[in-house]
Amino acid sequence: MSIRLIELTKRFDGHVVVDRVSLEIEEGELFTLLGGSGSGKSTILRLIAGLLLADGGRIELNGRDVTETPPQERGTGFVFQNYSIFRHMTVADNVEFGLRIRRVAAAERRQRREELLDLVGLTGLGDRYADQLSGGQQQRVALARALAYRPEVLLLDEPFGALDVKIRGQLRRSLKEIQRHLKVTTILVTHDQEEAFELADRVGVIERGHLMEVGTPEDLYHRPQTEFVATFIGGGNVLVGREEEGRIRLGSVLLPMPEKAGEHEAGAPVRVLFRPEKVLLAEGRSSERPGAYTLGRGRLVSQIFAGALSRVALDVQGLEGARPISPSPGYGQRTTRIEALLPSEASTPPLKSGREFWIGLDSYHVLSPSGLKVLVCVDEAPAPQPAVEFGALLARTTGGSTTLLTVVPADAADGVAAGTRDALESLRGAWSGQAPRLDSRVRSGDNTTEILLEAQEGLYEVVVIGQGGRREEEQMTGLGTTARRVLMEAGVPVLVLEESRPQIDRVLICTAAGEPGKTDIRFGGRLARRTGAETTVLHVRPGESTPAGRRRAERHLEQAGAFLGSLGVRSEIKLADGPLVETILAEAKRGDYDLIVIGAPAPRAVQRLRWRDFATSIVSGTERPVLVVPMRE
Ligand code: ADP
Ligand code: MG
Repeated sequence: MSIRLIELTKRFDGHVVVDRVSLEIEEGELFTLLGGSGSGKSTILRLIAGLLLADGGRIELNGRDVTETPPQERGTGFVFQNYSIFRHMTVADNVEFGLRIRRVAAAERRQRREELLDLVGLTGLGDRYADQLSGGQQQRVALARALAYRPEVLLLDEPFGALDVKIRGQLRRSLKEIQRHLKVTTILVTHDQEEAFELADRVGVIERGHLMEVGTPEDLYHRPQTEFVATFIGGGNVLVGREEEGRIRLGSVLLPMPEKAGEHEAGAPVRVLFRPEKVLLAEGRSSERPGAYTLGRGRLVSQIFAGALSRVALDVQGLEGARPISPSPGYGQRTTRIEALLPSEASTPPLKSGREFWIGLDSYHVLSPSGLKVLVCVDEAPAPQPAVEFGALLARTTGGSTTLLTVVPADAADGVAAGTRDALESLRGAWSGQAPRLDSRVRSGDNTTEILLEAQEGLYEVVVIGQGGRREEEQMTGLGTTARRVLMEAGVPVLVLEESRPQIDRVLICTAAGEPGKTDIRFGGRLARRTGAETTVLHVRPGESTPAGRRRAERHLEQAGAFLGSLGVRSEIKLADGPLVETILAEAKRGDYDLIVIGAPAPRAVQRLRWRDFATSIVSGTERPVLVVPMRE
């Protein structure tokens, strides 16, 4: 094992920029670290080289712990993005520089320098100065210089970033040959996916200081585990369906669950990825279905010529109910858009917009089941922050991730935004030990609007918000304006609380009569299974009871119990008569629940309004966490 990073962590001014990165790179491997700008790539490289010291974790090179070792004793060679060769020295002197410092004899220096100049393709240019060289040649010199004293590890920080496309290609090929020839363990940092794929034995994808996934280019492209990698790399169509009796329900389509899909619980979300080149189109009638799996009929909305291939976008009917993640849905868009790649000759002259096709898939891939993705709204009030505590608990116990969000007013001064960012970062720092994947974000604008936008854009599964209600008129209902509006308008479950709980052991699921496996039971059940909680399912009948109505309710509860049992969740069922809100609140108090889940009746407009009142009353009637699951289906 040549390079080993163990929980490597780096902070700048309280901001975590490298967050517990663990990685093993084998001897002789060419590893690329791929990530967007500011993701922490350069920082990781500098930590390995010893140009920065880690705040946590360890670094081992060839089994030797070098975490505290000075840079010159680590045996690493470094090439930077900007040409960093010495301008006042000739090429030869640049290459020999490290050898001279190490007091290598002149004859040996000369021989090594000539070998290296041959190797990097600069034979005979030893007498030139930097300004007599092209950018590509300067980077070749930088490479030769980094290799001169035979480093055990070669570190390259976007070495071709400043060069034009053609030169970049040539240099990549030379680098790969040289690396193969010398078998020197190498990490190359880049934001360019093509570059990462072309060069690497394995690629690590980094995002906001987290190492998301590591794998061969083929693995990351065809079989990514995370949503981030699936959408960051290549064009990807990602839709979220549901597990249904061992298959995947995507709107009106049922797809087989691939064997390697990982265990998905009954009714749990299933994230399906298909690359644009796996999408097949057929123009014929129903007999001529394309590919192994038919998605439905689609209409062409755009076509972009891209050389040998054309990139087309299609609106597909029949996938309603599946949640699109990528391409990201336009606001208010109803049909599901997918992207396909077609050979250009098949689409010349350009296909007409609005033209209809049957759309099929050659193959698809299922991402790893995910824990809950939790968005926690943090107001500017000082600690304690029960929302942060409970949100982190929820993410941790379900194996998910947490993002802290603060919204600052659009007209706030720059200093205010910066101050908020710092405060939020230190909050994140304080909680990072309790939540495995914890991020923070600051947005500016109207509180509710920005929270809802973040919830939608980030595809969170739960929004956690404090009750608020500090202003006088809000104390009437005990619920702040923001909390109320988020509750009313969010399309995802919203968790409102005044006080946190130390654990999630007991969950009360309040359900209206209807089909079992409705969103409330399903979501509550999935949550209980993930947290290992036991549940009580409560159905309250506010009206006077008829025997038939009672039997229906009993049957509903039985089915709910059976459904939870199939998830392996222990449940007790309760049927109560009495006023809805008061009965629920009384049970909540009696049972000492850690979480109360409330569902919803059928989504008819009038009832919807009444339901909102109901939700608000429950939420403001208790300090316990209440999860409000919006109606679906
Ligand atoms: P990348 O190389 O992926 O673009 P970097 O590792 O350079 O990212 O930076 C990661 C984050 O750390 C950025 O948000 C950057 O602003 C911050 N950062 C990097 N170096 C410093 C520094 N010396 N002081 C403060 N912040 C820094
Ligand atoms: Mg960088």
